[in-house]
Amino acid sequence: MNADGYTIAVRALCEFTAKQGDLDLRFTPSPTAEQGMAGHTTVALRRNSSYQREVKLEGQHSNLQVRGRADGYDPDLKQVEEIKTYLGDLHTMPDNHRHLHWAQAKVYGHLLCQKLGLQKISVALVYFNIQNQKETVLQQALDAAELADFFALLCGRFIAWAEQEVAHRAGRDVALADMVFPHATFRPGQRQLAEAMYKASKRSCCLLAQAPTGIGKTIGSLFPLLKATAEHRLNKIFYLAAKTSGRQLALHALANIQNSTPTLNLRTLELVAKTKACEYPEAACHGDACPLAKGFYDRLPAARAAAVDQQLLDKEGLRSVALAHQVCPYYLGIEMARWADVIIGDYNYYFDIYALLYGLSVVNDWRVAVLVDEAHNMVTRARQMYSAELQRDSLKRLRKTPPPALKKSLDRLYRAWLQLEKEQEADYQAYAEIPEKLLTALTRLCTDIGLYFADNPSQLAPDLQQFYLDALLFNRLAESFADHSLFDISKISKEPGTSTLCIRNIVPAAFLTPRFTASHTTALFSATLSPWNYYCDTLGLPDTTAWVDVESPFSADQLQVHVVDSVSTRYADRAYSVAPIVALMARQYHAQPGNYLAFFSSFDYLTQVSNSFIQLHPDIPVRFQTRRMNEADREDFLAQFTEDSQGIAFAVLGGSFGEGIDLPGTRLIGAFIATLGLPQLNPINEQIKLRMDKIFGSGYDYAYLYPGLQKVVQAAGRVIRQTDDRGVVYLIDDRFGRGDVRALLPEW
Ligand code: SF4
Repeated sequence: MNADGYTIAVRALCEFTAKQGDLDLRFTPSPTAEQGMAGHTTVALRRNSSYQREVKLEGQHSNLQVRGRADGYDPDLKQVEEIKTYLGDLHTMPDNHRHLHWAQAKVYGHLLCQKLGLQKISVALVYFNIQNQKETVLQQALDAAELADFFALLCGRFIAWAEQEVAHRAGRDVALADMVFPHATFRPGQRQLAEAMYKASKRSCCLLAQAPTGIGKTIGSLFPLLKATAEHRLNKIFYLAAKTSGRQLALHALANIQNSTPTLNLRTLELVAKTKACEYPEAACHGDACPLAKGFYDRLPAARAAAVDQQLLDKEGLRSVALAHQVCPYYLGIEMARWADVIIGDYNYYFDIYALLYGLSVVNDWRVAVLVDEAHNMVTRARQMYSAELQRDSLKRLRKTPPPALKKSLDRLYRAWLQLEKEQEADYQAYAEIPEKLLTALTRLCTDIGLYFADNPSQLAPDLQQFYLDALLFNRLAESFADHSLFDISKISKEPGTSTLCIRNIVPAAFLTPRFTASHTTALFSATLSPWNYYCDTLGLPDTTAWVDVESPFSADQLQVHVVDSVSTRYADRAYSVAPIVALMARQYHAQPGNYLAFFSSFDYLTQVSNSFIQLHPDIPVRFQTRRMNEADREDFLAQFTEDSQGIAFAVLGGSFGEGIDLPGTRLIGAFIATLGLPQLNPINEQIKLRMDKIFGSGYDYAYLYPGLQKVVQAAGRVIRQTDDRGVVYLIDDRFGRGDVRALLPEW
C-alpha cells in the first residue's frame, strides 16, 4: 500500500465488506489442510480437459487494486467455481458463511468477465463433502453488469477505509521521522542497544542482544524500530513478552513516546488471552449463547471505526470500545490486529503452532519487526508450544459411555496403547519412533470424532472435545516427528491404565526458523543470553543473526561477588552443606543488616537450611517462598521488602522470585545462591542430554549447565537495579570455582 493506491486480496475484501450476522465459533470440525487440497484436486479431476485451476485475476476500482485466484473456470460452460470442502451436514452451515462464499464467487465472476470480455457468466459454489466425496453445486447465471455493480459496491464499502488507512500510515511515518527520544539522554548501554536494533532492521537480519537490567531495554528497543518504520518500510512492530509485567512496561514506554511527540498518532494494541478478555465466561462463542456474538459482524464496522480513533487499545481501552458497540472485546482485538501499528502480546501470538500474528503476516505479506523481551524464556516456552500429551485416564473415561459411532475406534486406540504399556517395563521410556499401530489408531479416532461432531453438533461433550483437540495436536506434531523431539511413555503409577504419551519437543529450532525468516527483523533481548550459540542453535536463528553484548551501566565496585567453593550443594553433600551455609548467611547479615534473598535448588533443601537457620539465629527475621503461592501471595511476599525492612527471604531458584522482580535500593542488598541451578537429574533430562549430545555434541552443557547458570545469573541480577545500588552476591558451590563455569558468568 502507498499513497497512490491500496492493494487487497479478494478474500480480505469480502471478509471486510460482506461478513454479516453472528460470530459463530461453534465447535465445527473442518477438513484439515491436506483434506482441503485433496478435495480441490478431486473436483478438478472430475472436470473436462479444458478446465482451468487457480486462475490468477485482478481488477481495479478507483485506486483500489483487487487480486486473487479463482479456484476453477470451465471455459466450455463459461462457469467460474468457488470450491469449499466440508465435513458433516451442509444444511447446518451458518447462513453468513454461505453469504461470504457467494461474495467471493461473484467477485471472481466479475474479474473473469472483465478479463475475457464476457457479457454473462455462470457463478457456482461447489461444496465438496470430504466423507462421501459428493459435490453439491449451487449456480447462478449472472450478467457482467450485475457483477460489476456488486464489485463496485464491495469496493465502495472498503475504499473509504482504505483511504483513511493510507492517510493514517503516511501521517504516522512523517511523525515517526520527526519523533524525538522521550528522555533527555540515553542511559549508558541504551544507545548501544538501540543502534544494534536499528542496524539489524537495516540489514533485515535477526539480533540476539544481551543487555543488562537497568539500561531501559523496552524503550531502547521500541524507539529505534519506530524510527526505522518508514525508512525500512515496516508495516508493523510486534512486541512479545513472557509476562504481563513485560507487556505493561511496553505499554508505558509507548505512552511516553506518544506524549513526547504529540503529532504522532500511533495505534497500539494489547492482545490479551481470551479467558481474560471474555465478558461471558460461561457462554459459548455464538449468537444463541452470547449477546456479544449476536450480530457481531453487523456492529463490527462501527466498532472498528471507533477503535482506530483510539491511540491506545490496551485491555481496558478495547473493552470500553467493544462494550459501547456491543461486540466481543476479544474478537474485536483479533480484528484490530489487522489495523494496529504496534501489537503487544505473549510469545505465542507469533511463535506457536496456530500463531495469529504469524498467520496474518504471511497472508497479508506484512513486513514486520518482532521484539522478544526476556528472550531467555524462549527455549522453555517454545518447547511447550511444540509438545503434546495424551493421558490414558482421559481415554478410559471416554470408553465408559462412548457414543456408539466412536466405540470401535476408541477400543482400537485403547488396545494399541495397552499393548505398549504392557511391553514397557520401566516407568519411563523414550522411543526412537512413534509406534505405527498407535498412530494409525489415533488418526482413525480423530477422523471418526471429527465426523461425529459434524453430524452431531449439539452433542459436544467437553471431555470428548478436549481429548479431540489434544489428539489433533498430537497427530499434527507426529507428522513432523524427528530428532528435535522425543516420543516417550511415562507410567504415573503401577496401576495399569495411568500412563501418559508425550511428544516432547527438545529443540524447537525447526519450528521457529520459518518464523524468523518470515519477519523483516527479529530481535531477542535479555540480561542473560550467554552463550549465544546455545540460543542460536536451539531456537534455530539464521546464520546471519547479529550478536551484541551491551555494556553494563553499573561499575564493578557496586557488586561484590564471593565464590564459596568450600561447600558442595550436590544432593549427596547437602547434609554437610547446611551448617556452613547457615553460618555464612548469619555472618553476612550481622556484618551488614538489610534485605537479602537466599536461593536453593528445591523446597526440601530450602526447608533443611531454614530450619537450622531459625534454630541457631532466632534474632534474624526470615520469610519463605511456599509451594503454590498465588498472585496475591507473591505480591505480599515482595511487598515485605521495604526500604526500612530487614531479614532474609528464602526462595527456590527458577521460581517466581529468581527473575522478573525489581527491588531497587535497600529493598534488596544481597543474595545467597546455594545451587548451580542445574535441572534435576531424572530420566527425561537424561534423554534430553543424549539428544543434545547427538545434535550438538554438547549434551551436558545444553541440557544442564547452560540452563542452570542462566537461572543463577538472573537471580544474581536482582541485587543491582540502579546506578547508586550497592550489594553482595555469594555463589555457594565448589563448581563455581571451575574455569568453565566462571567463563559463563557475565562481566559484571
Ligand atoms: S464475550 Fe466471551 S463468550 Fe462471548 S463471544 Fe466473546 S469470548 Fe465468546
